[in-house]
Amino acid sequence: VRPYWRQFAFGVLFMVMLALTEPAIPYLLKPLLDGTFVERDAEFLFWSPILLMVLFLVRGACGMASQVAFAWVSGKLVLDLRELMFERILNLPTSYYDAHATGIVINKVTNNVTQVTAAATKVLMVLVRDSVIVVGLLAYMLYLDWRLSLTVFVLFPMLAIAVRLIAKRLRSLSRRLQATMGEMTHVLGEAVRGHKVIKVFGGREAEMRRFSSHANWVRRLQFKVKLADGSSSPLIEGIAAIMIALLIYIGTGQLGDEPMSVGAFVSFLAALGLLFPPIKRLVGVNQPLQSGLAGAESVFAMIDEPPESDEGRQVMGGVKGRLTFSKVSFRYKSSAGDVLDGISFVVPPGTTTALVGPSGSGKTTIASLVPRFYTVTGGTILLDDQDIQGVTLNSLRQQISYVGQESVLFNDTVAANICYGSEGDIPHQAMEDAARAAYALDFINDLPDGFDTVVGEDGVILSGGQRQRISIARALLKDAPVLILDEATSALDTESERYVQSALQNLARDRTTLVIAHRLSTIVHADQILVMNEGRVVERGTHAELVALGGQYATLYENQFEQA
Ligand code: ADP
Ligand code: MG
Repeated sequence: VRPYWRQFAFGVLFMVMLALTEPAIPYLLKPLLDGTFVERDAEFLFWSPILLMVLFLVRGACGMASQVAFAWVSGKLVLDLRELMFERILNLPTSYYDAHATGIVINKVTNNVTQVTAAATKVLMVLVRDSVIVVGLLAYMLYLDWRLSLTVFVLFPMLAIAVRLIAKRLRSLSRRLQATMGEMTHVLGEAVRGHKVIKVFGGREAEMRRFSSHANWVRRLQFKVKLADGSSSPLIEGIAAIMIALLIYIGTGQLGDEPMSVGAFVSFLAALGLLFPPIKRLVGVNQPLQSGLAGAESVFAMIDEPPESDEGRQVMGGVKGRLTFSKVSFRYKSSAGDVLDGISFVVPPGTTTALVGPSGSGKTTIASLVPRFYTVTGGTILLDDQDIQGVTLNSLRQQISYVGQESVLFNDTVAANICYGSEGDIPHQAMEDAARAAYALDFINDLPDGFDTVVGEDGVILSGGQRQRISIARALLKDAPVLILDEATSALDTESERYVQSALQNLARDRTTLVIAHRLSTIVHADQILVMNEGRVVERGTHAELVALGGQYATLYENQFEQA
């Protein structure tokens, strides 16, 4: 809230003014009753209705002003926190996404933020305003009659204890509720994204059970929250009833002293009556306060999450493209042993190196280390003799074009997807050239709006092969010295793969290329082939050399040759 302390202070000021006028109501009641109805004082008869109207006008204006100020501050607060979180989402290391489910991350930005701001503004409003009202009214009551006030004070600690117990329970419940809610969102998201797999593999019942169990937990926890919340009112009202009974007894002089005047007693009861709504609000504020604190834990945990380490200070530029892996080893945070073990190789500028090997042998991991999606755990990676750890992430990634295993398309036009990330206006010709080189131009022209066709979420209106060709076009347009293709052609049929293959060969001519592919047709022309197995390079050489060697690669080649 600090950046908006002015607006916030403005709101507090008017709120305090509103609160301070609250005791004025019972205060006016005493002379009103004693002076007009009982003694019929002429001057007071004239002024009291006018005074009352002025009082309520002032109160209305103060109430309005404070509401507007708080609404503005809380809106700004939600915006700021959401922007901070989104910025962090863009800067988080890849390992964070390995460990956190999408639904939970989304829930933080959409729901938990509003809980925090509710606590920061609405709750604060209640706390400040209603505390002032309570203190003001209590002071007035004390001034009016200390015996009655004492009775009220004695019963107060009982309230406080009840409130504390309920608050503790609410806080733990709402923390659990938030976690469960995130899990439910997660199951929901998986069901929507994975509906095809669920249908074909008969996962409906299992998904239904999974969802029901989470949804039911949400219901149970919500019910418990309501139960704990609902038990607070009857408790307080019970104590209030005892209090009023005692007041009548004392006020009517049954303890043997002078009975109070009508005006004074009614005024005291009015003050007491006015005391309950703010106290009730103060008690009720616990639920949004507790869930706000729980939400804040979740939101700030995310904002405080360390971003990708970007300690390198050198800015990379004019790269020729010699890529060197020197005794590189790597392990994922969650993996038991090393996924890569002492990998060393050199890709001379402008040449192509292919990685082959069984699935799980570490090919994708090698590809992810170059743009520093992960940091090596041992050894070094050099680009043009510069340790990539020593350069800024931005300048390193500018040197790299990447097509991954899954083509990522944004729900935008084909043109926007191809030009994604390119600064400034891209000439149409350049975009078309990239599309042509990726063998995507023909099908793009067949789309209803050509380059202006919106591809839908994850590119649903396109086939897997078409999506890949758009991803390839995007990589070609970027025109970076280092090109990484991780099974970029796996979703293509043999025919279009052959086309894309020749396009990639043209492209790879003046660029350092790291290509991962299953089909040997993609690999045979590579300048160097590294055969991977269980995180190690087991064979290396050109296609002809490796076939002559008669090892793993030769077996692989023969198997594929037989199939074809
Ligand atoms: P390839 O691309 O050759 O099929 P990967 O590089 O994807 O193989 O995986 C190599 C090994 O690392 C596998 O054993 C896999 O289980 C593990 N692995 C891959 N990604 C992760 C990850 N994000 N977290 C933990 N382990 C991973
Ligand atoms: Mg892979």
